[in-house]
Amino acid sequence: GAVDIECEMLVLGAGPGGYSAAFRSADLGMKTVLVERYATLGGVCLNVGCIPSKALLHVTSLLDETAHLADCGVSFAAPKVDIDRLRAHKAGVVAKLTGGLAGMAKARKVSIVRGVGSFLDAHHLEVALTSGEGQTQTGEKKHIRFQKCIIAAGSTPVHLPFLPNDPRIVDSTGALELRALPKKMLVIGGGIIGLEMATVYSTLGAKIDVVEMLDVLMQGPDRDAVKVWEKRNAHRFERIMLKTKTVAVEAKDDGLWVKFEGEQAPTEAVRYDMILQSAGRTPNGKKIAAEKAGITINERGFIPVDAQMRTNVPHIFAIGDVVGNPMLAHKAVHEAHVAAEVASGRPSGFDASVIPGVAYTHPEVAWVGLTQDQAKRDGRKIDTAVFPWAASGRAIANGADYGFTKLVFDADNHRIVGGCIVGPSAGDMIGEIALAIEMGCDAIDIGQTIHPHPTLGETLGMAAEVAHGSCTDLP
Ligand code: FAD
Repeated sequence: GAVDIECEMLVLGAGPGGYSAAFRSADLGMKTVLVERYATLGGVCLNVGCIPSKALLHVTSLLDETAHLADCGVSFAAPKVDIDRLRAHKAGVVAKLTGGLAGMAKARKVSIVRGVGSFLDAHHLEVALTSGEGQTQTGEKKHIRFQKCIIAAGSTPVHLPFLPNDPRIVDSTGALELRALPKKMLVIGGGIIGLEMATVYSTLGAKIDVVEMLDVLMQGPDRDAVKVWEKRNAHRFERIMLKTKTVAVEAKDDGLWVKFEGEQAPTEAVRYDMILQSAGRTPNGKKIAAEKAGITINERGFIPVDAQMRTNVPHIFAIGDVVGNPMLAHKAVHEAHVAAEVASGRPSGFDASVIPGVAYTHPEVAWVGLTQDQAKRDGRKIDTAVFPWAASGRAIANGADYGFTKLVFDADNHRIVGGCIVGPSAGDMIGEIALAIEMGCDAIDIGQTIHPHPTLGETLGMAAEVAHGSCTDLP
């Protein structure tokens, strides 16, 4: 068909990867078009991921903290939760951010085409236009001719095939809609997304069971940190079933009856009011007719790329969840900048040594670089240094003396190669360890950097001094 729009840069998908790529491309002088099937920009992260989950986790962490205030002589009546207002609060946070993005796109003259894109060949994309709040197709189509393209099509939740179609069974998007507060909830998959949502629903009154096929909850971080998290969160869970899977679910009027198999499976079916399936995410690579543009997609649906974020078709780039793990917004944004810079002829490359991860649970668990377990598996000689928060004045004052800060460093040259923090605000502090790794710092560099007292961040300096054998024990 006839070409409706011509552009230098086409970006497919407006999540953190896509909007960052579009903005950087426009800033570097390219005439940029951004294609997105949903009404708002921001993708999974802003609409149904990072941001709404953190809006809810912020509220529930305050609720959990007020319980701790009873020990300090301050008590409240039991909280009353108005779920409609809580939902509206979350929606307001999301709307503010997605609205901000729309303004930023306009200011840069990035044109937005609303619809589902699929490739026709290596220089043409067809867009089936959508309208309304969701993805309602209008029947109208637009053809875009592009010189260069960045694919940022993201990922979607895995849906387990044996689960019946029932409104009480949700994925992370459904759980974030906060339609009802169940008394008893099953979380399938003990990864970060499942445990964050479990935290929200449990603080709001649900008793939670978690079922996980592997032998641990939260796969990424240091095991000792996860143990601290487990101890602090034991009250939320009736059962944590490891090395176990859900094999059948029967939807009845009185609830969802679930059968399990595995090492910690109960013998009888268990009844739940709600099930969250959070058993992973799958890339959207197979849904964009990439083969028509000659782009290689692997069997899992990921698009292989080089350090310049190029696919096998040199003028087509790919970034974010669709290129591989870890599926994290900050990784997508970094890759976006690389792709846009390379596309505009600048030298650039993705060479991050480390990508931090955070579970925004209560308490938070944050990690970066090598863990002890990984070092052991890789046969790398490392040393570790731990500063227990029981020795931090600020942590004690904050009621967080259960936390710790751990540094992992190379046994030979003492350079920092990893770290982990468990405790409130762990996610806000992990960036310092990431910087230390990127800068090739050793323990002495961090130990001799003056951290403000009394702060939780100070525990990083203390851990470094422990490593150096010169901890002064300033409380
Ligand atoms: P996405 O955000 O998935 O965006 C892709 C966009 O492309 C979507 O808007 C989609 O509609 C659009 N699209 C796809 N195909 C087409 C097509 N054919 N035509 C038109 N449009 C299309 N990460 C963090 O770093 N921190 C967190 O705290 C965090 N919390 C999370 C919590 C939850 C509940 C979930 C589900 C995820 C969370 N993540 C978090 C992960 C994070 O959301 C993703 O890593 C991030 O959104 C990936 O960005 P992206 O740009 O690659 O893709």
